[in-house]
Amino acid sequence: EEKKAADSAKVLRVGTEPVFAPFEFPKEGSKDLTGFDIELIEALGKKMGYKVEMVSMGFDALIPALNSNNIDVAIAGMTITDERKKVVDFTESYYTSGLMIMVRKDSNVKSIDDLKGKTIACQIGTTGENKSRTVEGAKVKAFNTQDEASLELKNGGADAVIGDAPVIEYYMTKAGKDFAKTVGERMEAEPYGIAVKKGSKLAGDLNKALAELKKSGEYDKLYTKWFGE
Ligand code: GLN
Repeated sequence: EEKKAADSAKVLRVGTEPVFAPFEFPKEGSKDLTGFDIELIEALGKKMGYKVEMVSMGFDALIPALNSNNIDVAIAGMTITDERKKVVDFTESYYTSGLMIMVRKDSNVKSIDDLKGKTIACQIGTTGENKSRTVEGAKVKAFNTQDEASLELKNGGADAVIGDAPVIEYYMTKAGKDFAKTVGERMEAEPYGIAVKKGSKLAGDLNKALAELKKSGEYDKLYTKWFGE
């Protein structure tokens, strides 16, 4: 049950990186954010009796912001990795993602092996950057946002982009369809989690609220709204 009216509720400061459609991006003609992550954290916050306040920052600033208490939670299409688990705690996974390669339409790249010695654009501090750096002889250009990496591909400054598949697939339905194509399937599965400061009881509270949203069908409704069946 909802504990309090929104206006008298406690505030949950939620950090995100707001250029990551369809998970978080500005509503058209507005500074307010929308997307799957945004609607999910709003629903979770409501269940937990919080008023959600979004705080935008660079992706690589989110974990430091948690650890310096500038935000309470981070939701940003963030993959649960062993490396990050050393410095923050995560909720249960709320979405299964995976990386994907995007190239220009005229490219003959067929797999990641074809990227050896080529220039790869990616987003700073992400699993896509980590994967790019494993490619032998590749020059890696890391940008603040996934959109900037895609623009570099468009402008000919990179041979490929490596980034999260759902974000690349969404981009392919928009600006990407004019110049880009995807290569192959999603790489290995990457679970997204909501990050909290190590030891914070918010992880348990969020997990409980997430389980309730799954049980009530609200989670499925959101999922279908943003990703279809
Ligand atoms: N899922 C990727 C990661 O966690 C990318 C996240 C993002 O760019 N918002 O590294």
